[in-house]
Amino acid sequence: MPPLTESRQQSLRRALEGIVGKAAVLTDPQELMVYESDGLTLFRALADFVVFPTSTEQVSALVRLANAEGVPFVARGAGTGLSGGCLPTEGGLVIALSRMTRILEVDYDNQLAVVEPGLVNLHLSWAVGPRGYYYAPDPSSQQACTIGGNIANNSGGPHTLKYGVTTNHVLGLEVVLPDGEVVWLGGKTRDPLGYDLTGVFVGSEGTFGIATKIVVRLLKKPQAVKTVLAAFDEIDRASEAVSAIIARGGRDGGAGRARGGGVPRGGRARGARGEGRGRAAAPLEGAQIGVRGLRARLARLHGHGRGHPAHATPVRTASRE
Ligand SMILES: Cc1cc2nc3c(=O)[nH]c(=O)nc-3n(C[C@H](O)[C@H](O)[C@H](O)COP(=O)(O)OP(=O)(O)OC[C@H]3O[C@@H](n4cnc5c(N)ncnc54)[C@H](O)[C@@H]3O)c2cc1C
Repeated sequence: MPPLTESRQQSLRRALEGIVGKAAVLTDPQELMVYESDGLTLFRALADFVVFPTSTEQVSALVRLANAEGVPFVARGAGTGLSGGCLPTEGGLVIALSRMTRILEVDYDNQLAVVEPGLVNLHLSWAVGPRGYYYAPDPSSQQACTIGGNIANNSGGPHTLKYGVTTNHVLGLEVVLPDGEVVWLGGKTRDPLGYDLTGVFVGSEGTFGIATKIVVRLLKKPQAVKTVLAAFDEIDRASEAVSAIIARGGRDGGAGRARGGGVPRGGRARGARGEGRGRAAAPLEGAQIGVRGLRARLARLHGHGRGHPAHATPVRTASRE
């Protein structure tokens, strides 16, 4: 987009302020710089405006205005992305969802919640935790990233090895389409009839529209969680231990399984494959008895697996979860 003339910038600013209010429009270059990149700071692009809507109606009005004025726009959650997805590469408008943070509804009977897109991922689990529930997708950035950003990037984390990535936990979406129209994709039911448009939207990196409400599944917290750390001489052996635990968990009918970090988090490889020391950090989840059994199994794999000699480093169990 060619640079805006001063008079056009002023008239656009007035129009934006008419939608979201004066305090929710940034134009000062120093303030705009805060939004010129995401977690991948190698790439930067300055917007003409950063706006902070607080409702679906405002998001829709902003998108309609941008269309009418021929101004590009892009959605932004917390800006923790690592692919430059929320960068205003052609200038224009950054629509920052960080003020749409409400949990609109929690339905414990049906294990679901309706949230706004700017809600920080971890805040949902904090909110429902006291009742024994949590939201499973847990990217490592979950203390900062938003559920709207997770939707766009179909984010995953340690839990998703067992429970699936974001798309497996989203039932429905209210979306502002690129022309400003507001539609619902999916809803509150599992496996609805018809095309899986929710599935198409999740992972589309903001290219199909802006999610303004999100219906997510909640899971019951496991009865027991125990984190066990075992250090191995080789990455391959650490990986094999995690695979063996997962395989055993399946045979146990899901009473307890290793999740997460075994391979990506646990194995800290340096150099060629198989070189260096590996660590299998396996948070074990399930019923008490299953977790105790899996811990014992990890200890056996660690010490005596596949003909390797016993190791000096003991298997360690975290004192609390
Ligand atoms: C330290 C660190 C650890 C990380 N760990 C992980 C990890 O374990 N797993 C993982 O998957 N990722 C990880 N990431 C990447 C990043 O945190 C995720 O991709 C996260 O989902 C981005 O969320 P966000 O709110 O920051 O989105 P942003 O970075 O603001 O935006 C990301 C994309 O989402 C779009 N978007 C934002 N909100 C909406 C909306 N409401 N509707 C439509 N589109 C929208 C934007 O336009 C952009 O394309 C990590 C990043 C960091 C910095």
